[in-house]
Amino acid sequence: MNSVPDVSAQAPTTGEPTSPRSLAAYTTLRLGGPPRRLLTAGDAAETVQSIREAAFDDQPVLILAGGSNVVVGDAGFPGLVVLVRSRGVRTVAEDAETVTVRVAAGEPWDDFVAYTVDAGLSGVECLSGIPGSAGATPIQNVGAYGQEVAETISAVEAYDRVTDETLRLTPADCGFAYRGSVFKHSDRRVVLSVDFRLVRSPLSSPVRYAELARALGVATGDRVPLAQARTAVLALRAGKGMVLDPADPDTRSVGSFFTNPVLDAAAYEALLARAGAVGEPPAWPDPSGVVKVSAAWLIDRAGFTKGYGDRGPVAISSKHTLALTHRGGGTTADLLALAREIRDGVHARFGVTLHPEPVLVNCEL
Ligand SMILES: Cc1cc2nc3c(=O)[nH]c(=O)nc-3n(C[C@H](O)[C@H](O)[C@H](O)COP(=O)(O)OP(=O)(O)OC[C@H]3O[C@@H](n4cnc5c(N)ncnc54)[C@H](O)[C@@H]3O)c2cc1C
Repeated sequence: MNSVPDVSAQAPTTGEPTSPRSLAAYTTLRLGGPPRRLLTAGDAAETVQSIREAAFDDQPVLILAGGSNVVVGDAGFPGLVVLVRSRGVRTVAEDAETVTVRVAAGEPWDDFVAYTVDAGLSGVECLSGIPGSAGATPIQNVGAYGQEVAETISAVEAYDRVTDETLRLTPADCGFAYRGSVFKHSDRRVVLSVDFRLVRSPLSSPVRYAELARALGVATGDRVPLAQARTAVLALRAGKGMVLDPADPDTRSVGSFFTNPVLDAAAYEALLARAGAVGEPPAWPDPSGVVKVSAAWLIDRAGFTKGYGDRGPVAISSKHTLALTHRGGGTTADLLALAREIRDGVHARFGVTLHPEPVLVNCEL
């Protein structure tokens, strides 16, 4: 089962670079100006070779896979865009309890999740329905419904553009953090494949996310059959417009546009004081003392409710306050103007600065 349209369907076949008029067809927002050149890399060797050739010509390179976490400026990209379309999933190690699977960077992420569920491998089932490629999951330590890839990634094979070497990185080398890693906001390393160490089990890992536990009718900490976890996650996500669906304009987005702000104790107290009668935001305290606060709540309570802006070409999703959507006929400048209005409105109301989750290419907030 693959609930996610394969973005590679629009990609040209491997070979000579082309110069399309815009990158909109390669991003889930359907926004972005033209690249100077665009090339499809069908395997890791082609990815590395195309980057080496661009370096020889002194051309900037943008690595693009599913285009589901990028905002590309209206001026496009003044260099080579490499579309990562490598494929392959194979077992590289196993023992009585675990199986380590190596996944090519261009493999559609949700196809891989479906494969693990069918194969009785536990560890990524709650990440069902997330668009994009397997190779992009380490970039922002993709996470949802109580799981994140940092828990199962055992190694990342990456090409280092500075040293011109291919390296095998350990999880510690990857510097995983909340929606971040050493890869995000740096184009030095290009992910060629990712190893996931999964547990042989017909059951999910313990369900940590309260909303998912409620949907499954279990207590947090319980385990459920893998397929049941996947079905419940896909249903919850679809209800929020968080599964790509060409027929649903609420899914023409990058998912969450802002990360949940992480506040120290003093900043959190200041927020509570400013929130006053509006109430307390949903918050997730960390043992280290910092508190992660719901960005969706802050946006909503600052007056930017679901559907805000829906008479124009860009608007807040009608299903989820955190998703900024392109309704058609808009530009990246329109989208960023809406994002700025929301960021500034939240800051004025609550004194908290929201930061974008997607990577901004040739544009800024
Ligand atoms: C509807 C919707 C729901 C979403 N839900 C979630 C969610 O629940 N949780 C979550 O974490 N994210 C979510 N996202 C964001 C996004 O799907 C993920 O971040 C995904 O991993 C991006 O994959 P991609 O292949 O589309 O990356 P792209 O958008 O193509 O690239 C994103 C960034 O990664 C870089 N990159 C991509 N591939 C490589 C590579 N092989 N090597 C080096 N750099 C690379 C790009 O240069 C760019 O900087 C959602 C997005 C949408 C549209």
